[in-house]
Amino acid sequence: MPAPYDLARGDLDLLLGGQPAFRARQVWEGLHTRVLYPDEMTDLPVAMRSLLGEALPRALRQISRQSADGGQTTKWLWALHDGAQVETVLMHYPDRVTVCVSTQAGCAMACQFCATGQAGFQRQLTAGEIVEQVAEAIRAARPRRLSNVVFMGMGEPLANYERVWSAVTKLHGDMGLSARHLTLSTVGVVPGIRRLAKESLPVNLAVSLHAANDARRDVLVPLNRRYPLAMLAEACAEYVAATGRRLSIEWAMIHDVNDQSGDAVELARFARPLAAHVNLIPLNPTPGYAVRGSSARRVREFRDQLDSLGVNATVRMTRGAEIDAACGQLAASVTLGRRASA
Ligand code: SAH
Repeated sequence: MPAPYDLARGDLDLLLGGQPAFRARQVWEGLHTRVLYPDEMTDLPVAMRSLLGEALPRALRQISRQSADGGQTTKWLWALHDGAQVETVLMHYPDRVTVCVSTQAGCAMACQFCATGQAGFQRQLTAGEIVEQVAEAIRAARPRRLSNVVFMGMGEPLANYERVWSAVTKLHGDMGLSARHLTLSTVGVVPGIRRLAKESLPVNLAVSLHAANDARRDVLVPLNRRYPLAMLAEACAEYVAATGRRLSIEWAMIHDVNDQSGDAVELARFARPLAAHVNLIPLNPTPGYAVRGSSARRVREFRDQLDSLGVNATVRMTRGAEIDAACGQLAASVTLGRRASA
């Protein structure tokens, strides 16, 4: 049985075979425009509502919902049909409402300082499982309108390319979100970046760099051994040339590891030719990485140095740290296991 957002338009027609054609349109619009589940579509006959409810069970079962930052940040922990768990984070800002969605249960990239990477890979999410996270965020954000989707939750989006791209086209085409407000983030899956450069929808790309010399990046982000910096820079240049979009570089500031003056120089050398914008993320604590984040002062100095080297950089506000919802802290089952055994 497919999840509501894994259903293709043609499958819905089949499912409602024998019904007048307007019914399929009505259900499709209910799912994507009004963002309702079938059992909530009170304008359908009761029998049809319950038939659809059974045929299209929700993909996400809420295990917990926590809030932080005075209610401006919400984190959900979901169980999927097979028991795999993922997290979703909704963030309210004065000028926008952003949801951060997971694309895989776990992650195979094994970045040292990331809680998801520390936990390992479980499985790919389907497009419908990704889209339903956005649907939940749209519903929870009301009466505000969800404006932005960042694929920065658990998992490596470009290691689940087909399903992630299918989710992107659904969000854009069926749910009316602007491609310019969708951002894919990658640790540097070069073939994925190349593919993205050829897509017609102009989504944003963020690259999680963290080190701009191969020796250090090999350790922090093991995928660098497969796709070293020179290859990554080439793919990024291709993406920028093909799309005309501005590239973002993510840099978690780690005390004495990548926050020194020489690191800023290396980063500037990488970022400047790409005209990339750098987001500095103060390192958030995770169970498997003992090094602490850079001090607030070091982060500011680093940003100022980048400025003076001709690179635009901003310090990203941390959201949800107190509920382990901040960058790099998403680790559903591991968190549960830790609490259960504590
Ligand atoms: N796998 C993709 C998508 C996840 S995005 C990627 O890594 O880009 C999650 C972001 O949080 C990435 O930029 C990641 O590098 C960053 N991050 C991971 N662990 C972190 C930590 N402990 N503190 C701050 N940022 C972290």
